[in-house]
Amino acid sequence: KFITFEGGDGSGKTTMIKKLSAYLEDKKIPYLMTREPGGIDIAEKIRSIILNPEHTTMDARTEALLYAAARRQHLAEKVIPALQNGVMVLSDRFVDSSLAYQGYARGLGMEEVRSINEFATDHLSPDLTLYFDISPEQGLARIAANQGREVNRLDMENLSFHDKVREGYLILAKQEPNRIQIIDASLSQEEVFCSLITKLRCVIED
Ligand code: C5P
Ligand code: MG
Repeated sequence: KFITFEGGDGSGKTTMIKKLSAYLEDKKIPYLMTREPGGIDIAEKIRSIILNPEHTTMDARTEALLYAAARRQHLAEKVIPALQNGVMVLSDRFVDSSLAYQGYARGLGMEEVRSINEFATDHLSPDLTLYFDISPEQGLARIAANQGREVNRLDMENLSFHDKVREGYLILAKQEPNRIQIIDASLSQEEVFCSLITKLRCVIED
């Protein structure tokens, strides 16, 4: 099974993924946890190019292509081999991030960005996507309160950019309501984790 986690900045994705890893270990359920962009050496290097705060002139299409390139390498080196070995793979972000951020929020067009990603993924799609939905106001407030977080180029975006990211995700969730499950990420950590486990269980157990 291939499961992806999506959400805007400050939605609590990373925190929930850490909690989930501990949970799966406790239950002795084999899994591979990874993240995008990154997860392997080549893709982590591409990630640092994309997110470097000094790269203020990066073109939106360049950005979209770099995400797709990092994604391809990550799939080829890590995700696909694990899936072939029957291991459940959990990824912090995947194609939907590119559709929401580059396609919708940056205005490249979701269908255009989808097409470069179909090339990159060779049409591999997650079995389940959990989308952590939160208002950008609340998300950005959480980021401001979290001092341990790495600084990145996206930190310079304004509220309306993050509003568009959210709108993009909600459009995607409407298009594919079975694959993309919405989690209300504004709730307490305990409540968010509980709804995550509930949704995940259906997929793990079949
Ligand atoms: O998920 P994570 O917080 O590690 O993502 C790093 C940064 O990259 C975030 O600021 C996120 O908004 C941004 N990003 C992006 N486009 C993507 C994926 C992530 O702008 N396709
Ligand atoms: Mg994160």
